[in-house]
Amino acid sequence: MGSKERFYVDIMAVHPEVTGSLFMIIPKYPDGETSRFIVDCGLFQEREYSKLNEDFPFDASKIEFCLITHNHVDHTGRLPLLFKKGFRGNIYSTSATATMAPLALYDSYKVLKDVSKRNYVNELYSQADVSNTIKLFKGCPFSETIQLNNRIQATFFKNGHLIGAALILVQISYPGYEDINLLFTGDYNKNNMFFDVPELPTWVRELPIIVIQESTYGTMDSTEMSKTFDDNIIRCTSNEGTAISMVFSLGRAQEILYVLKCMQEDGRLSKEIPIYFDGKLAHQYTNLYLKGDLGINDQMKNFLPENLEMVDRGSRKEVLESLATKIIVTTSGMGTYGPAQLYIPEYISRKNCLILFTGYTAEGTLGNRLKSTEKGDVVNIGSIIRKKNADVVYTTEFSAHAKADEMIEFLKGFSDLKLVLVNHGEKETKLQFAKRVVKEVDPKMVGIMDREYFFRVNRYGLIRQMSTKFD
Ligand SMILES: [Zn+2]
Ligand SMILES: [Zn+2]
Repeated sequence: MGSKERFYVDIMAVHPEVTGSLFMIIPKYPDGETSRFIVDCGLFQEREYSKLNEDFPFDASKIEFCLITHNHVDHTGRLPLLFKKGFRGNIYSTSATATMAPLALYDSYKVLKDVSKRNYVNELYSQADVSNTIKLFKGCPFSETIQLNNRIQATFFKNGHLIGAALILVQISYPGYEDINLLFTGDYNKNNMFFDVPELPTWVRELPIIVIQESTYGTMDSTEMSKTFDDNIIRCTSNEGTAISMVFSLGRAQEILYVLKCMQEDGRLSKEIPIYFDGKLAHQYTNLYLKGDLGINDQMKNFLPENLEMVDRGSRKEVLESLATKIIVTTSGMGTYGPAQLYIPEYISRKNCLILFTGYTAEGTLGNRLKSTEKGDVVNIGSIIRKKNADVVYTTEFSAHAKADEMIEFLKGFSDLKLVLVNHGEKETKLQFAKRVVKEVDPKMVGIMDREYFFRVNRYGLIRQMSTKFD
């Protein structure tokens, strides 16, 4: 075996498509030693893969540490299960992610508990597993290199996908050899309305590097996005209707409130129209945006619109029954959990009502099913059958992911790309995007990640791909 092949890293993805993000990384050193760590530990949300949630295809007690890119449950939601299965290492994330992760993990625990009760199966993990997991978090500042063990270091760089989100650079070293450099994009976006996202520093972009690249919107260019949210809200409220905006608790909820504030300020939306904001977790995150130390730009700290009322269990009934002109901003983003479960059945059969989904709606969720129901047809929501009279619209304009052209630009920013590993996309999307990377970026090599193959790499790129032994 050549000297180059005595120091290498195996990289494998446990997630086949978009959710359940988890990379297993195994560096092998010339002295025969091995390390073992993971990047992200997410919950599978596609119905097709829900069985994969139950276990890991590796021994959790052998994982030394875990790196987390951002606070979305499809990247963090199985951390408590990892603890339950024996993991006791540190969980490194940015400080903002470490601050917010307990909110997401306790909420996800509650949702999973409800689901397991409904299906008469045991819960995936206990509340104690959640609190023990939270104790393992180590919040790290942006742009400072952290030593994880004597051979591995990591640096978190700002990423516009979400507050606290990071691009993680992992550098693996061994005396007498040059470092192996890996960059994990997690979910990636080049900007965010709440904070500035500087370009990666030159020293990173000049490294001989392997980029593990997401591809959620790998087949859509930024020019294909159309802005419809403002016009829809204005049309509905000027007809004295009710506009309901479905939002994710973190990120999207705060963005929508800020967009409404801007519409009020430039006079397009009357400040007389009340805005009701419902969803406990969304309220908690909003409070952190206002009072916490998440790294939000000062001028964005005042993002709430006027005439805003926080709605809870006590005041919800009044909002549900009201016939007045109003805007409701509520969770969950896909309409399946949270107060949406009450608002949608109530408002779906009203004629002067607009229901607006502002993000991705996965297969099987209520938001997705409403898409295929014609106006005037009936729809079942749980055990309730309603006629769909409301307008239901979808917009992708707030997407927190870079589009294909923006990801290509990002990759072109590296001067010595040894390998791009495309992941976090639907099967066909990954393939189309990988082809585009070959054509337009032309790195030394491009690979597509799924559960079938893993990649053995060194500083100079791919050594070989090998089939994975997972199920
Ligand atoms: Zn995400
Ligand atoms: Zn993701």
